[in-house]
Amino acid sequence: MRTALNRHLTTVRNLGILAHVDAGKTTVTERILYATGTTHRRGEVHDGTTVTDFDPQERDRGITIFAAAVSCAWDGHRINLIDTPGHVDFADEVERSLRVLDGAVAVFDAVAGVEPQSESVWRQADRHGVPRIAFVNKLDRAGADLDTAVASIRDRLHPAPLVVQLPIGAEDGFTGVVDLVRLRALIWADGAETAVAQPVPPDLREEARRRRRLLEESVAELHPQALEEFCTAGALSERTLAAALRDLTRTGDGVVVLCGSAYRNRGIEPLLDAVVAYLPSPLDVPPVRGTGGEERPADPRAPLAALAFKVSATPTGRLTYVRLYSGTIEKGDTVWEAGARRTERIGRILRVRADRHAPVDRAVAGDIVAVVGLKSAHAGSTLCAPDAPLVLEPPSTAEPVVSVA
Ligand code: GDP
Repeated sequence: MRTALNRHLTTVRNLGILAHVDAGKTTVTERILYATGTTHRRGEVHDGTTVTDFDPQERDRGITIFAAAVSCAWDGHRINLIDTPGHVDFADEVERSLRVLDGAVAVFDAVAGVEPQSESVWRQADRHGVPRIAFVNKLDRAGADLDTAVASIRDRLHPAPLVVQLPIGAEDGFTGVVDLVRLRALIWADGAETAVAQPVPPDLREEARRRRRLLEESVAELHPQALEEFCTAGALSERTLAAALRDLTRTGDGVVVLCGSAYRNRGIEPLLDAVVAYLPSPLDVPPVRGTGGEERPADPRAPLAALAFKVSATPTGRLTYVRLYSGTIEKGDTVWEAGARRTERIGRILRVRADRHAPVDRAVAGDIVAVVGLKSAHAGSTLCAPDAPLVLEPPSTAEPVVSVA
């Protein structure tokens, strides 16, 4: 039973998208929802049909203000997407959403590279120890250049960029990428929704081999087991390379860089594959702590510890978005709201979808759900088991642990 529950947890990714305003966070989010079959129509920022920017004020201003959570499925995994505000005026909301994430995609503009807000959100994510991968967006724009954008990531944010793709074509002629881990090409035909995997085109083989070598060298420098294989075999196998990229992402010692054009729906599927492959599950991050130092493991059978991170008034009622770190909640349960020092009754529990919320019987450690019926919980409230109360510590600055799976 425990193993089955753990297996469930390893397939969850609590993910945020971080970006400077205009880098394409909303478009990337929309394309993820579309690619995962969560929505069946592509929302466009310019016609105000996006799903995540659902607040009218937000649509009018064209910026993402309120964090919304959406659950979607990819390759046997559940990705709970927490929309984090990109505007600098909403730093508190960014902080709150960073607390409930286990990993993030940082979106950069391929022309502008690292911009001031990308830098400040990156630092906030550093403070929270949130593992990240980078997505260099807008490769179709005139003047877009992956290498320059990567140089600005290295110079201004200081992680070791681990570039896992080589773009095929540039600007208007950007048609695909070479996947440097699997050494295959992914080509998006005109108007096609998904890429076709094929051998690396002959004219790109030498450059792909050169870049793969650079990637192997960078990884070997940072990862002891990879270094050992690199020294003895003279190269890294696909398996070792992928495992090392996962470890380096989770420790924050390196950042995997992918590229694409969200607007043209290019690069989103490889991005989702990378989220699943490299970013941690709730089991791979350190246990949360209470203010008394007590730890709560990501275990559905441990006493409940959960954080309310957003409350919104909707026609369905007052929705409290909750991240469970340990324990389980079921409809009708009584929980202790630590701040208000009172008990609360769990009403309905909803899995948060883009267009409708689906009722579920329970939520377990690692889940992000919306709860109907909580009266006093507010953003930042701890919900816990009445017989094992705790107040969750302010954001942890602990280093993420490396998974041994
Ligand atoms: P956000 O402020 O980070 O959420 O950015 P948006 O997703 O709202 O995008 C800002 C603008 O850039 C919009 O006009 C988008 O249509 C446009 N945009 C987003 N992705 C791309 C892309 O890949 N290529 C191009 N050329 N434009 C894009």
